[in-house]
Amino acid sequence: MSTIKEKVIMITGASSGIGEATARLLAQEGAHVVLGARRTDNLKAIANDIIREGGSADYRRLDVTNKEEMNEFVTYVNSRYGQVDVLINNAGVMPLSKLAALKTDEWNQMVDVNIRGVLHGIAAGLPIMNKQKFGHFINVSSIGAHEVSPTAAVYCATKFAVRALSEGLRMETGPNIRVTNIAPGVTESELAESISDEEAKQVMKEYRRISLPSNAIAQSILYAIKQPENVDVNEIIVRPTA
Ligand code: NDP
Repeated sequence: MSTIKEKVIMITGASSGIGEATARLLAQEGAHVVLGARRTDNLKAIANDIIREGGSADYRRLDVTNKEEMNEFVTYVNSRYGQVDVLINNAGVMPLSKLAALKTDEWNQMVDVNIRGVLHGIAAGLPIMNKQKFGHFINVSSIGAHEVSPTAAVYCATKFAVRALSEGLRMETGPNIRVTNIAPGVTESELAESISDEEAKQVMKEYRRISLPSNAIAQSILYAIKQPENVDVNEIIVRPTA
């Protein structure tokens, strides 16, 4: 097993749900975590909790749709801590609806956050990882990167894209840079709160009855990071047994 202690780990979308659970778990394991998202009050409270419990955490405001902000986030971490070991591209939104509802602003929002956000993370992190000759990208896609369901066409399209990016990045980098795609099934978080479509809301309500705790996804991320440096866990799919 490779040690996670002292690793500098950046997590986008760390203000709630899977990102928050991951920040807390990795910090408990001894990593230095840097949290990014737009809701800085949440980030501050989570970072303070981590520090109070003996961990090491820092946070920055980050909108992943803004290329410059993402670049500043990663550059800040690199100059302050001297290296970037892991970048977890986790930020995402999921305003589900049927295509016929033509919620084109929501389609664009999903493309901007879920695809462009990940691309901005890659653009900011890759030159640094190439230069230091090590690093690990962990992209949070979804079970929606493997199958499509009604109301989720655009969301799934963005997550298919994230999976394709993970795969392409993994093949183009290496041998010292690892890439892991995490594909969670339904998980307890704030993700469904952005759904404005009534029908999609009802569908999600049903699904949420079987949702995994967000810590289950954090555990899969921890597993990928903890493998020996020459072991690249390509993808982990985590679903509720139900
Ligand atoms: P949450 O809504 O709880 O978390 C989403 C996070 O993304 C928040 O921290 C939010 O922070 C952040 N975010 C949204 N937009 C932006 C932005 N423009 N810039 C920076 N951060 C942003 O949901 P989850 O924890 O569930 O979502 C995490 C990831 O897991 C997403 O990529 C999601 O698609 C994926 N996923 C979730 C599943 C589930 O069932 N929960 C299943 C499969 C995949 P803020 O608003 O403060 O910016």
